[in-house]
Amino acid sequence: MTVVLGCIADDFTGATDLAGLLARSGVRVSLRLGVPETAPADVETSSFEVIALKCRTAPVEEAIAETQAALAWLQAAGAERFFWKYCSTFDSTAKGNIGPIAEALMAKLGSKQTIYCPAFPENGRSIFMGNLFVGEQPLHESPMKDHPLTPMRDSNLMRLLEPQVSGKVGLANRLVVDQGVPALRNRLAELRADGVAHVVIDAVANIDLTIIAEACRDLPLMTGGSAVAMPLPSLYMADGVLSADAPKPVKPALAPGQIVLSGSCSAMTRKQVAAFAAGAEAFKLDPLALAKDGAKAAADWLAQQAPETAKIVYATAEPSEVAAAQAELGVEKAGKIVEDALAELAVQARDAGVRRFVVAGGETSGAVTNALGVKQMTIGPEVAPGVPWTWCVSADQDIALTLKSGNFGQEDFFARALQMLEEQ
Ligand code: ADP
Repeated sequence: MTVVLGCIADDFTGATDLAGLLARSGVRVSLRLGVPETAPADVETSSFEVIALKCRTAPVEEAIAETQAALAWLQAAGAERFFWKYCSTFDSTAKGNIGPIAEALMAKLGSKQTIYCPAFPENGRSIFMGNLFVGEQPLHESPMKDHPLTPMRDSNLMRLLEPQVSGKVGLANRLVVDQGVPALRNRLAELRADGVAHVVIDAVANIDLTIIAEACRDLPLMTGGSAVAMPLPSLYMADGVLSADAPKPVKPALAPGQIVLSGSCSAMTRKQVAAFAAGAEAFKLDPLALAKDGAKAAADWLAQQAPETAKIVYATAEPSEVAAAQAELGVEKAGKIVEDALAELAVQARDAGVRRFVVAGGETSGAVTNALGVKQMTIGPEVAPGVPWTWCVSADQDIALTLKSGNFGQEDFFARALQMLEEQ
């Protein structure tokens, strides 16, 4: 399958977000964790390929090398258009990595101009006159000002970008976007004639994103948050670049075995765990007991459960319990012990025939995905906004995996997710 759009994301959740929005088109979207070791010719590729990197705060040279390797893989897969995805709050330092990576990708592609549009109006990220807002606050007054790794102390995207790039930076503002596609194209051409390589584009509403996507869909490289990429599948379809019968994601045949693994202690997850545990076999992990005796008790319990039994293993606890465990073990160690135990139990469950995995917790998801050796996910139907089922391969077995972080999902998320698989 020729790749219509090759995407590179600077972190895993950003990649999932982008992949999920593209998958709403119904076309198959493939998410790969890291640059694949296997050449594209030897794997099944999809119309939309998203490579998730972990390069938001990596040293700039390393980040560039990684994104260039991702670009080379996507090019080898036949992609001619590319999307560089970063956070909708433009998370970066004065040294980069958003600008340097964009510039390096442009150099490889021989592209003279790209756009920067991190806006995501539905999630309260808008850009006006080049200034990024989080809800009603300018970025530099939002909680992002205190981010531990990428504190955002300026809201002006041109000022943020300038020290990161060597080329000229400019703006296509809302008044131009509002005039529609031809006006925006003219403005970009005008800026290009003026030598402006990096164009920040205002967007405060979804309609702006549609206009921007339409005007920029044939640029070799677009950059932004996930939202500006959302209109691309239907535009490519209208152009005939993406065939209407492009492959759809196909749910693999799965044995009935199932498990819910939760390491998230977020408020919504606590409700979800309580709701599911009431009607399922449940085992609660205690970090202090894990520190003392390891995960054997949980492993023995799991070994007693038939694969198809509805079951949940969770470390999810009230804030006071979490604080007590952290006071005893340290925050990092408490977290790691729980993550390691859930990861080990996921592998045990898979080896016992479980093929449906519902995982709660961002960090927990990373640990479980790693342990299962998942390298590629095909994005399936959304259980809740931003949380799709994914089809993957683990130890040569087809599995279904859904990864829910923090406060995502409804109270009945776990049961709903598993129910949904039956209906597919
Ligand atoms: P979320 O997406 O809700 O933030 P994460 O999995 O990213 O969830 O983070 C939760 C962290 O809390 C993980 O590192 C997990 O191992 C840790 N954790 C889970 N349960 C407990 C507990 N009972 N005590 C201490 N830490 C815990």
